[in-house]
Amino acid sequence: MLIQDGLLDFHVVLYRAGRTSSYPADPPEEGIRFHFLGGAGEVGNVGCVIEDNTGTRLLVDYGLAPTKPPRYPSEAPPISHAVITHGHIDHIGMAPWLASSHGTLLHGSELTAAVSRIMWADTYKVSDIEGYPLGWDKRDMETALDSWVTHNLEDWFEIGQWRCRLLRAGHIPGAAMLEIETPTKRILWSGDIDTRDSPNVLGARPVDCDILCLESTYGGRSHNPRDEEEQRLVSRVMEVVSRGGTALIPAFASGRGQDVLRILHREEPSLNVHYDGMGTRVTKEWLGCRTLLRDGDRMEAAFRWSKRVSGKSDRRKALGADVIVTTSGMLDGGPAIWYLNRLRHDSRSAILLTGYQAEGSGGRKLLEEGKIPIFGNLTRIPLEIDKFDLSNHADHQALSAFARGCTPEDLILFHGDSDSCAALDTELAEEMRVHMPSNNETMHI
Ligand SMILES: [Zn+2]
Repeated sequence: MLIQDGLLDFHVVLYRAGRTSSYPADPPEEGIRFHFLGGAGEVGNVGCVIEDNTGTRLLVDYGLAPTKPPRYPSEAPPISHAVITHGHIDHIGMAPWLASSHGTLLHGSELTAAVSRIMWADTYKVSDIEGYPLGWDKRDMETALDSWVTHNLEDWFEIGQWRCRLLRAGHIPGAAMLEIETPTKRILWSGDIDTRDSPNVLGARPVDCDILCLESTYGGRSHNPRDEEEQRLVSRVMEVVSRGGTALIPAFASGRGQDVLRILHREEPSLNVHYDGMGTRVTKEWLGCRTLLRDGDRMEAAFRWSKRVSGKSDRRKALGADVIVTTSGMLDGGPAIWYLNRLRHDSRSAILLTGYQAEGSGGRKLLEEGKIPIFGNLTRIPLEIDKFDLSNHADHQALSAFARGCTPEDLILFHGDSDSCAALDTELAEEMRVHMPSNNETMHI
């Protein structure tokens, strides 16, 4: 299949092992050192080294940001252990480099490990088609696949002098927060979190800690109530179907697409829904790790109810469906573009976007200009377009309540732009010491 699901336009040449790391050579004399290689003051691209004077050192996440051009974290220093919070590309994308360059073991949930092959293979395929350098190759990917050490949620394990465990983060199935007990401090790393229950996973709960590292994606912003957005999506789908059109729902492969299937299956089981793209393979992995899903039997029922598209003739048949759920979620490639190119001639059809559309993405262009690049040609799309807030991140109020529930002395804000972090700082600065680190700078607590 030549249609790519994921990323586009990589232009950056990557680091060489042992030469360009910004990480200090000496261990910290006291306290805990946090050093962000990426993900401080920005969304995605996460990587942070945590170290203390016991000689214990850990990297949390090593992703890349699929922006245009993409952003990569700085080079990681030699490191034996990394914890990968979840399988989204902005947290896992560069892990093959780690495993092959440093022999790093990758700790994560069973489901994060299970989807990693799909995520890495897609990243590699797109890099190959687009001709950008990635810094790792297929052999490194195999090394990374052999480097997983999986853990059940809530089971303690040891890394050096620290005790660690993974806890449910909400967000997507298999996504984890990381709790660390060092000899002196209890640290909670939130990963990407949602404290609300969503169709496929229950929300995250606060954990008492001394230092909280909190993702800040939606700092300063609030979500519409989730059930209202779900109902609005269903009614809009029914409107489109009743006038004889097809609703094209672009959705991420890992999380959003499966949520949409669950919602439609629950509310309107008579719909004819086709499911295409990388999400179908990801869902099979989900169903193999059922204990990490909220009601895996219902996810399986929704998956079997949908008509899975697995070839060109299936794809042509799907053009007559009520609903097509497919990647990419931001219309940056994938089967969604193929469908869009055909459905655009039928004014009864509609495009229903299911989340944030990043600057420079196809979806953003469509919302702002009514045009989108299709196989290289900027094409006008004269269809109804609507957007729904089905985010799997906690909003400002939920992040603040979560932080208060954890009762930390120190709060480190990351995975958010400067406005989002500043809004949380304003909210919480009287109750805890708030830190807003920068990438490639060392911080001691
Ligand atoms: Zn995520």
